[in-house]
Amino acid sequence: MALIEFTNKGIYCKKGGFYIDPWHPVDYAVTTHGHADHVKWGNKNYLCHDLTKPILTQRYGLEDNVQTLPYHQQIDINGIKLSLHPAGHVIGSSQIRLEYKGEICVVSGDYKVEYDEISTAFEPVKCHTFVSESTFGLPIYHWEPQHIIFKQIINWITSNHQKQKTSILIAYSLGKAQRLIKNLSSDYPIYVHNSIANLNEAFAAAGVNLPKTIRITPETKKEDLQQGIVIIPPALADGKWVKSLMQPAIGICSGWMMVRAGRRWRSADAGFALSDHADWPGLLDAIKATEAEKVFVTHGSTAIFSKYLNEIGIEAEEVSTKYGADDDDDVLIKSIQEN
Ligand SMILES: [Zn+2]
Ligand SMILES: [Zn+2]
Repeated sequence: MALIEFTNKGIYCKKGGFYIDPWHPVDYAVTTHGHADHVKWGNKNYLCHDLTKPILTQRYGLEDNVQTLPYHQQIDINGIKLSLHPAGHVIGSSQIRLEYKGEICVVSGDYKVEYDEISTAFEPVKCHTFVSESTFGLPIYHWEPQHIIFKQIINWITSNHQKQKTSILIAYSLGKAQRLIKNLSSDYPIYVHNSIANLNEAFAAAGVNLPKTIRITPETKKEDLQQGIVIIPPALADGKWVKSLMQPAIGICSGWMMVRAGRRWRSADAGFALSDHADWPGLLDAIKATEAEKVFVTHGSTAIFSKYLNEIGIEAEEVSTKYGADDDDDVLIKSIQEN
């Protein structure tokens, strides 16, 4: 018996009676992380990591029907042993491990292998079947270590300051924003949009220590913003408010900037290839570490990536899913394609 099947509602474990990140409402959803393409409103029950719950509550108003687990704790659902393992993608992000009669299947959700200083570090989990995302499953995607990217960002900000420009970083509210805050706050005061401030407060209440940031209000002085770093979500990048700031300079942080380097994206002045997804070598390392006999490839460059895996002797098959609409990197690619 296969542990999971791919249905029109999502990845389904029939024996357990639950779906993993379903895109239509179901009775029992296991949620890998808090990005909107993985959380559909309207499921009767949710199961997720302890630190995904504050996100579900803050963003989707879900509370009473959300059950949580810490990493590695195994529970039994109709005979299926289920546990969550760090995916390193955003705070609380989990791979879902299922075991039944010695057969093990792991569903990755979104993941990255580089430790970002804020999400629990990715952990490979040995299994027979691995369902892997492949957002950046093309050989051109090869990230620089994040300390190099952060140095580039700091240099850009310093040069903006010298020219009296206001540095605005575009980052999705969940994930990239906290990663920037954690890694840049020692250099400059950080001003954040409400959506980011709200999420940070929810994390703080759940015991996640983020460096101090300042919520942007109508009273915030433009001179102060010019002296610090402004972080806002992608939807606001082209808005009036940004244009009203003192000489706004916009920096986009996304894996897609790897292929956009040196090219202008809308009003962007700089692009930094900082991604919360694994790059090509990261995906390959992660997959090899699972020692899986069979890999299902979802979410991204499924055709090319699964073809390559088969060529190197790892049995792989692409499956179509509906993920990839509301993740930071995915939001950006949509905007890029529209332009
Ligand atoms: Zn996703
Ligand atoms: Zn995601």
